[in-house]
Amino acid sequence: MSKETFTQATAYLKQAVPLMIKYQIPTTPTNYALWYTYVAQTDPQLNAAVDQTLQTEGTCSPLSSELLYQQHVAAQTERNVENMKQSLEAMVSELGASMHDTLSDTGDFQTMLDKSFGRLQKFDDEGMSIEETISLVRELVQGASNISQSTRQFHTRLTDAEKEISDLRGQLEKSRSEAYHDALTGLMNRRAFDQELHHLLQLGSFSLIILDIDRFKSINDEFGHIFGDQVLKAIARRVRDGCKNGEKSFRIGGEEIALLLPGRNLAVARQVAEALRRAIEKVTVMDRKNGRRLNTITASFGVAEFAPGDSYEMLMRRADEQLYKAKELGRNRVMPMSL
Ligand code: GH3
Ligand code: MG
Ligand code: MG
Repeated sequence: MSKETFTQATAYLKQAVPLMIKYQIPTTPTNYALWYTYVAQTDPQLNAAVDQTLQTEGTCSPLSSELLYQQHVAAQTERNVENMKQSLEAMVSELGASMHDTLSDTGDFQTMLDKSFGRLQKFDDEGMSIEETISLVRELVQGASNISQSTRQFHTRLTDAEKEISDLRGQLEKSRSEAYHDALTGLMNRRAFDQELHHLLQLGSFSLIILDIDRFKSINDEFGHIFGDQVLKAIARRVRDGCKNGEKSFRIGGEEIALLLPGRNLAVARQVAEALRRAIEKVTVMDRKNGRRLNTITASFGVAEFAPGDSYEMLMRRADEQLYKAKELGRNRVMPMSL
């Protein structure tokens, strides 16, 4: 890594950290990588996605950060880790060489160097504390005004950096295995939902929609479970397509989907639910076995707006109660009724 790239890297980090503090982003390796890439502006798509998130959420929730990271940074990082390691190795040998050159200019330095390396070897054999290393290194660089670091320090640094890199890699693998998505529908899963809802409860001002497919059991009974899965997928796709204004959709149960709408009140959330209800009515799924087409799929919706003091359970219960009413009143409807 050249001195310039190193200075640049530090500058980016100095920009990234205040941003992370401003938006209260937890300082995890993942978030550092994400915000570093953001300020470095190396990926316009990432910047656009982050800006969009900041605009709709006012911040960037842990879930959103994780998803942005997975989508834009993770694959790239895997490659960068290798590059970084190579750069560090190059940096060490380069600096080692330049130090040697500079020091060699000083007349009787060579004698001191030989003597010091002798001591270094001795310390090395007998074990040497960091303090001892540093004081030895200070002696070594005396008189060589431009040099502030020693090879040994760089080796220590390299070891540290390598540890950081392997930590980062571990973190990467962990974040991949902890999937936030539901395999069947591709929607986010219950785990993601819980995390995002807890996050929103801290911020306030949002609404929740829960939808449940009507008479899904009888679809399974009549057409089979595999066909039922196709129906679920088709509905999930329709819901996802309908999430265009910062809404997030999650499969929270077998045939239950939840939406979280940051910054939206009950009236707006009702409209979103009503649009989804109509979109689902139009879904048709073809049964390949017998060429039959199912075009009577509907869903019922319960909507609730966050109220100050709400807990996770309180808000979920209100949405569930509305969903239950929608079922009772004959299904294929949004509750509460229009205001
Ligand atoms: P309601 O209108 O009252 O919601 O009726 P329902 O039949 O949809 O409700 P119920 O809760 O009785 O049945 C839900 C069914 O959803 C039962 C279960 O077998 C089915 N189901 C849950 N998860 C899946 C899945 O992943 N695939 C399929 N094919 N079916 C599922
Ligand atoms: Mg259900
Ligand atoms: Mg159902």
